[in-house]
Amino acid sequence: MIDKSGLDPNARADSRAQTCAAGGNLLPSCESAAECDKILQTALAGTRISTADALALALHADEETLFATANQIREKFHPDSIVTYVVDRNINYSNICTSVCSFCAFYRKPGDPEGYLLSLDEIHEKVDETIALGGSGTLMQGGLHPDLPLSWYTQMLRSIKERHPEFYLHCFSPTEIHAFKSVTGLDLEQILSQLKDAGLDSIPGGGGEILVDAIRKRRRSSCSTDEWLEVSATAHRLSIPTTATMMIGLGEETWMRAEHLQRIRDLQDQTGGFISFIPWTFQPDNTALGRKIPNRVPPREYSRWLAVSRIFLDNIENLQVSWLTVGLEEGRLGLRRGANDIGSVMIEENVISVAGADHKATEVMLRETIEQAGFRPGLRNAGYRRLPDRPVPISTGKEID
Ligand code: SF4
Repeated sequence: MIDKSGLDPNARADSRAQTCAAGGNLLPSCESAAECDKILQTALAGTRISTADALALALHADEETLFATANQIREKFHPDSIVTYVVDRNINYSNICTSVCSFCAFYRKPGDPEGYLLSLDEIHEKVDETIALGGSGTLMQGGLHPDLPLSWYTQMLRSIKERHPEFYLHCFSPTEIHAFKSVTGLDLEQILSQLKDAGLDSIPGGGGEILVDAIRKRRRSSCSTDEWLEVSATAHRLSIPTTATMMIGLGEETWMRAEHLQRIRDLQDQTGGFISFIPWTFQPDNTALGRKIPNRVPPREYSRWLAVSRIFLDNIENLQVSWLTVGLEEGRLGLRRGANDIGSVMIEENVISVAGADHKATEVMLRETIEQAGFRPGLRNAGYRRLPDRPVPISTGKEID
């Protein structure tokens, strides 16, 4: 288990004691700021908090105390005052998708004239351009393509690694990998082993959204909670690290967010394979769900869940604030509310921006944001390995569309 927090695992409360897994009726463990203060003191002293405590903190804790506690716990994990970031590019190899997710503005159904599949040459061109711009890797994702064989993915990964062995491949969300099963007829272990052999370094935690089927099944037509977790667990068993995400604002009930955190923490207890947790907010523009839920989660609410995530997830080292969905200003504030990472410059992004996340940042802007929050910027790759400091390339110091 990854635990650099200094927290004492033996002193932790039984997190399942008050959970909602069986009935969906989780109640907060308290309803006053004073009682929440006691939970925060307990967490700071090294005792694991329960899921009901997490819900109580999100709903009732004094904001200042909540944020300060999350910040202190971040300091235990990361005493070096460094906030990390990555320069990479999202390559979306295809938008053709057999799933229907009401929160998604990116996908096109098979046969849609706007559907695309990048050629190998186009992917290589994007990789070459990323390297020229000072990027260290790619976060690669697509839709759930109905008939691409596994060899298409393995040959593509292999050909990138042959040209650029150091280029970091953070590719294919658990939802995509789950879909590879029905296309290929292979099991998860076979699929993931072949992808790893071909050069896959780690897996991004896309498609996590809210890991509670009561809301999940209303928002997407593929990949249940258990199926998403099974892909992550199998990857961890094969020593493929993954990240975990949480998308809030889908119309979920508040307790479901706490349940989501619990499912992630429980799996991390078993495998230790999550390298980071990234909460972000639903972007409604151009989505079917946006017609029902047109408003974004308010920044303060996002911050409260960011802080609760840091306090609750005592076994995940890194917490990333999502500047892309909440903006650079909230991103800066998040660095004092539990986050130790500000994510990616994102030389290219196609999935969330089309749903209305129109924030833009350069490497210079991310570094300045980190410094304004009182930290030193530290470059990393998508696997959270620190990279040597280097002069910021002029190209990533300008805005890139
Ligand atoms: S979120 Fe992913 S799986 Fe869902 S429709 Fe969009 S591309 Fe397809």
